[in-house]
Amino acid sequence: MKATVTTEILVAGAGPAGLTAGLYASRSGYEAVILEKSFTGGQMALTSDVENYPGFPEPVSGMALAQSMEKQATRFGCRVVNVEATGISSDPAGFLVTSTQDSFTARAVIICTGVKPRQLGAPGEQELIGRGVSYCAVCDGPLFKGREVAVVGGGDSALDEALYLSRMAARVHVIHRRDEFRGCKMALERLRRRENVVFHLSTIVTAVNGKNRLESLELSPARGAVSSTLPVSGLFVYIGSSPNTAWCSGFVKLDDTGSIVTDDRLRTNVPGVFAAGDVRNTRLRQIATSVGDGALAAMMADEYLVAKG
Ligand code: NAP
Repeated sequence: MKATVTTEILVAGAGPAGLTAGLYASRSGYEAVILEKSFTGGQMALTSDVENYPGFPEPVSGMALAQSMEKQATRFGCRVVNVEATGISSDPAGFLVTSTQDSFTARAVIICTGVKPRQLGAPGEQELIGRGVSYCAVCDGPLFKGREVAVVGGGDSALDEALYLSRMAARVHVIHRRDEFRGCKMALERLRRRENVVFHLSTIVTAVNGKNRLESLELSPARGAVSSTLPVSGLFVYIGSSPNTAWCSGFVKLDDTGSIVTDDRLRTNVPGVFAAGDVRNTRLRQIATSVGDGALAAMMADEYLVAKG
């Protein structure tokens, strides 16, 4: 039977922003609950090696960081509940957040629901998800040990995860629609030094082929018509992400990309509702910036609740 759980600060999403918001809220003496639909850590948990989060001179796995962050937040009394937030509305107690199970009332809400990977939209992609097509190298990469795989994208995620895959795959084809990358130069240089990495620049994937499993990709030059077939067993798509805001879209203001609009105190257009991390319209999406956002949002929620009395 569904129940209504009462808390003071409700955080939606247990990525680095949400876990930090939960840590700061509970350490400030609030009853805090974090809702998480799948696994702790969000996109961070899908990252093989994190090299630019301060305090870790050696690469650390995103999953290990997520587990430490959760342990730290729960040490101060914050609770992580495994449900998906499905809606938010005003309530006499402040706000009502519905979920796939219980509903939650809270005096303040911090939205940290992050982003989800974008799909190519090429014919065959959808049908072969989990049968060669993946959006997570750290989850599925080891299945392709000694085999030939492709990575699509030109940002940091594509470069980092191609590097990770090059440690286990026989060959990694990096396919990018332009002739220059937007990812960091250092990662690109490292990738260029790998003997088993082949670059396909100014190239797009026009079809994903295979009967029961991925067999090949159809490639076309970004400008021009001559297409070619590239046999691969794995396809890893890293072409950016879109915000997880469908559940709160009628309540808080979004920009034209679907990200939540906030001011410099991470307030949304609804007093008492804050947004932090990748889900908001921000210039930089990093673990470090999400953690900073989570801390600021929790302290701004505290300021709001103190002013409200
Ligand atoms: P991103 O920076 O938005 O890059 C997406 C890439 O996919 C771009 O190269 C883009 O091409 C390409 N792309 C977009 N739509 C496409 C389509 N339909 N077909 C083919 N290619 C397409 O995304 P991201 O790499 O996931 O990174 C997201 C954020 O996280 C960034 O701020 C990034 O810096 C950060 N991040 C940082 C690290 C790190 O610091 N190590 C690691 C991972 C992510 P164009 O370049 O032509 O637009």
